[in-house]
Amino acid sequence: SVDRLPEMQEARLRLPVLAEEQVIMEAVRENSFVVLCGETGSGKTTQVPQFLYEAGYASGTGIIGVTEPRRVAAVSMSHRVAKEMNLSTRVVSYQIRYEGNVTCDTKIKFMTDGVLLKEIQKDFLLQRYSVIIIDEAHERSVYTDILIGLLSRIVPLRNKKGLPMKLIVMSATLRVEDFTENRKLFPTPPPVIKVEARQFPVSVHFNKRTPLEDYTGEVFHKTCKIHRMLPPGGILVFLTGQAEVHSVCRRLRRAFPFKRGNTASGMFLKKYYYYYLFTFFTQSLHSSLPRIDLDNYSALPVDEGDEDRLAGIDDEEGSDLELGDDAADTEEKADPSLPLYVLPLYSLLAPEQQAKVFRPPPHGARLCVVATNVAETSLTIPGIKYVVDCGRVKKRFYDRVTGVSSFKVSWTSQASANQRAGRAGRTEPGHCYRLYSSAVFGDFSLFSEAEITRRPVEDLVLQMKDLNIDKVVNFPFPTTPSAEALVAAEQLLVSLGALEEPPPRLSCPISPLGRAMASFPVSPRYAKMLALGKQQDCLPYVIAVVAAMTVREIFEDLDRPAGSEDESSKLAQRRARLAQMRRLWAGQGASLLLGDLMVLLGAVGACEFAGCTLKFCEENGLRYKAMLEIRRLRGQLTNAVNSVCPEVGVFVDCKMAPPTESQVVCLRQIVLAGLGDHLARRVQQEELLDSKWRNGYKTPLLDEPVYIHPSSALFKTLPQFVVYQEVLETTKMYMRGVSAVEPEWVP
Ligand code: ADP
Ligand code: MG
Repeated sequence: SVDRLPEMQEARLRLPVLAEEQVIMEAVRENSFVVLCGETGSGKTTQVPQFLYEAGYASGTGIIGVTEPRRVAAVSMSHRVAKEMNLSTRVVSYQIRYEGNVTCDTKIKFMTDGVLLKEIQKDFLLQRYSVIIIDEAHERSVYTDILIGLLSRIVPLRNKKGLPMKLIVMSATLRVEDFTENRKLFPTPPPVIKVEARQFPVSVHFNKRTPLEDYTGEVFHKTCKIHRMLPPGGILVFLTGQAEVHSVCRRLRRAFPFKRGNTASGMFLKKYYYYYLFTFFTQSLHSSLPRIDLDNYSALPVDEGDEDRLAGIDDEEGSDLELGDDAADTEEKADPSLPLYVLPLYSLLAPEQQAKVFRPPPHGARLCVVATNVAETSLTIPGIKYVVDCGRVKKRFYDRVTGVSSFKVSWTSQASANQRAGRAGRTEPGHCYRLYSSAVFGDFSLFSEAEITRRPVEDLVLQMKDLNIDKVVNFPFPTTPSAEALVAAEQLLVSLGALEEPPPRLSCPISPLGRAMASFPVSPRYAKMLALGKQQDCLPYVIAVVAAMTVREIFEDLDRPAGSEDESSKLAQRRARLAQMRRLWAGQGASLLLGDLMVLLGAVGACEFAGCTLKFCEENGLRYKAMLEIRRLRGQLTNAVNSVCPEVGVFVDCKMAPPTESQVVCLRQIVLAGLGDHLARRVQQEELLDSKWRNGYKTPLLDEPVYIHPSSALFKTLPQFVVYQEVLETTKMYMRGVSAVEPEWVP
């Protein structure tokens, strides 16, 4: 039994899901598969694992597993549940890609969906678990979809073996037909239990105009207005990425400085009369909708952390706090009589910082959380009465044919916008301010597409082949990826040697090389490099380069706009320093030809040599968080390589000497073997039909030229052939991670 603290017990009793405990547990007892739908905040994630625990699902040898698409949720929910149950984190634990606190006493394990997928590769029957909860299934992340497909087969196998197992799929929306009505997935539809939510009405206010450029400015001004004029209640702001979140936090903190002890009781009352004015003008165009449809939505698929990629862009909170940038703020005079307690929230934020949003704000101050779409369904913040929605989301877009990707801020879906609005009605009637017109809203797509239909799938195909699922098209996907994407994935894997040559299309079996590749936690191109790394003692270098290539944005973004002369000159100094270091890291002579990858290798080597300190990173233009991630990944890749080929006995050397000339040549060939389909040839003089082709490169798939970025180590050299990591479209089509290829190596 569980010994909860009285105040915890009291808080639990207020959650709608508690009223359904009997119904849920009975359904679970009588069925192998159960689908549970309930509005965000109804208590699914925190309570259902406790129901299962108390019903004895973790009392034998099996434990309770819960998967989350986001790392934030896995960590935060495990802590919360441990606290509610008054149990140690040795018992209620978490595991995410790089870290975890699981012990042999763990009974409830929260993990990211990718972690469970890896475990299935080791033990297909998942014998450690007596029940798996797939949480946030409405997000339709790729791994969630695959896990549901796999578990639809694993659970019957376990039952047949006399080791019964349960699957519970939890969703914040009622749109679960892709799971329940899919006969390939579940021949008999699983029971769907709905948890009635207590939801208060939310008035939705549309903007008259839709700001196309400076929507963060609009967000800032709207938030200021709400704070100045409207009665107490927390504000939740939705933006698209970490950089925006920090910039708006900074502006708000400057406008409403908050110091402990600086509270102004009664101040809200004085402002009340503005309230009427305010509601008048915001509602003049569209009368408030009495109640929005909160049952008809789904949220966005997640590319874990993608919204925070391309971070670095004014990422460092506090670093420029004291600067007076943002000229637009001058109209918002700093007003310390109206303290606002401003907190950022996004995927990659440190857990201690995330935890702050759950605590009540200091007395007399209003809570204002500025978030990315993590706050849409994964985390429920208490006390929110006002939502400010920019209507946008940042997503990575892939060109299916060329693989070119770009991060774009685009309109969200109607379903997501409704989900965001719903956050305002958790504790009392609320208001949602949409910074776009109702006509624009009408043009939003109804729902967001499942992630699996939007991105390349070679990594999934390889994982599945490793699970001996040869005919991937026949896999019970909740939503099947396009045939085009599946064919492209098989072709790439055949060309990498991970799959045996055809004949039968779409069902090439996995090769021994493919098996080794599948055991590395990186995508197939990089896994190929690792598999080849043994030659000429190159493995430590390959591991370091692959780790650096798969962590985004290792250099700080020093091209950001400066707010003051002083900052501008500091930035210029740091840019010069970074440029100098990049030249140093690029090495000399032969190593220059490894190009940007040599720069990565040099940076990792130098940083480790210096002990990977914050100071070293700051002084040399490296992103500290990225360097820590690279360090962890190096350790993890080293372990993975050792377990595939123990005879190499590779280890992480923090005093790694630079590669020799012949090792550099070997590294270049290994890189070519992994990135062979990313080959580009410099455009010849005689081909220069159009001036845009000057210094351009031709690739097999693109009609347009691609370029070497001015910051690249090979910008001045312009080798005849290069391979690149990816093409990212920014102001031009730029290749990233470029390395030179000798013409005679080109097949
Ligand atoms: P659901 O999964 O249905 O969206 P949750 O189980 O996540 O709901 O949340 C139930 C309640 O628990 C919410 O009111 C939420 O605010 C609260 N809660 C969740 N995590 C924490 C935390 N770390 N601290 C305080 N309250 C929390
Ligand atoms: Mg939840």
